[in-house]
Amino acid sequence: MSFSFEVTGHLEGRAGRTGVIHTPHGAIETPAFIVVGTKATVKGVLPEALRELGAQAVLANAYHLYLQPGADIVDEAGGLSEFMAWHGPTFTDSGGFQVMSLGSGFKKVLAMDTAGLADDDVIAEGKSRMAHVDEDGVTFTSHLNGDRHRFTPEVSMQIQHQLGADVIFAFDELTTLMNTRRYQEESVERTHRWAARCLAEHRRLTSERSGKPYQALFGVVQGAQYEDLRRQAARGLADLEVDGQRFDGFGLGGALEKQNLGTIVGWMSEELPEDRPRHLLGISEPDDLFAAVEAGADTFDCVNPSRVARNAAIYTADGRYNVNTARSRRSFEPLEDGCDCYTCTHYTRAYLHHLFKAKEILASTLATIHNERFTVRLVDNIRHALAAGQFDAYREEFLGRFYAASRSGT
Ligand SMILES: [Zn+2]
Repeated sequence: MSFSFEVTGHLEGRAGRTGVIHTPHGAIETPAFIVVGTKATVKGVLPEALRELGAQAVLANAYHLYLQPGADIVDEAGGLSEFMAWHGPTFTDSGGFQVMSLGSGFKKVLAMDTAGLADDDVIAEGKSRMAHVDEDGVTFTSHLNGDRHRFTPEVSMQIQHQLGADVIFAFDELTTLMNTRRYQEESVERTHRWAARCLAEHRRLTSERSGKPYQALFGVVQGAQYEDLRRQAARGLADLEVDGQRFDGFGLGGALEKQNLGTIVGWMSEELPEDRPRHLLGISEPDDLFAAVEAGADTFDCVNPSRVARNAAIYTADGRYNVNTARSRRSFEPLEDGCDCYTCTHYTRAYLHHLFKAKEILASTLATIHNERFTVRLVDNIRHALAAGQFDAYREEFLGRFYAASRSGT
């Protein structure tokens, strides 16, 4: 009924590693891609299909489930895993990202009430500000019906305990690369104070709900693109202990420049303890996955594979293409040559093309199964390559083929 992490292998000379995360709902071999099911469902895909495509865990969102159906209902159902009939490990993110990004319009920037700084005051044109950060938490407007709500570190912990996922995240503040250095400094300090409050509340709730399976709490490291802030934030959270409670793992959060992703993850890995897992929030592009694994990230989540699948974008070893263009109309090949997924072993590009053109809901289901299988399999292969001492060779081979094809428009 407890949570633990064991490191089983290392990438020579670098922070990358293989391991196993043990949760009350099962084990996760790392590195692993965690499938996103925002509202306690991966849109259009049955849990059985997720299991068949090799998904090891599902991540849902605390903000969405708090608004609908309500965390108390998920609690009464026996927790997220029971509620959605996914009998494997689950994660929930704290809701902070959604509260702040939905509130600011097109994921631009969220400004603190008192900031008054030009760069921190940018909001998508025509969007009224729907979220306000203060020292105690965030007040925001529901995207569903306009009701006002308030999230604090304590509220986020209460919601996530009711949701009952195996891995939950501390409530942190979202910043973007457009925020000023000064604002990033304040945000890192505020996130640290919120982290301490999350640990205290987590401790309290864990003993209050002692009959429930243990939920692991991950602290979220912020600091944007600044090395000193990232290292300071990581050290601070690694050392933080409240009433004997420490973080069970860490989320690597906040704004990351794609070209520096590996470098920034590397700074955090150097400061974080070796014996606790690191989750990188929100990546799934192949080059990002290799960079993150090399730099010491263990798990990843991203909504992208399923989101683009619903728009007919298909990932293959030879790059990405759209199956709804005329080229696929008479193509009686699978979506990807050699793919072992349910979709590719039963259907053709022509059939998917037809389903998308006819706006049939099965189009989303079949395309999502393929894209999730593609991403899960890629990270599985990275893990096997790392364990076999073949990480660099596999990266060169995979990325060479994937991006060469993308460039030539295949
Ligand atoms: Zn496939």
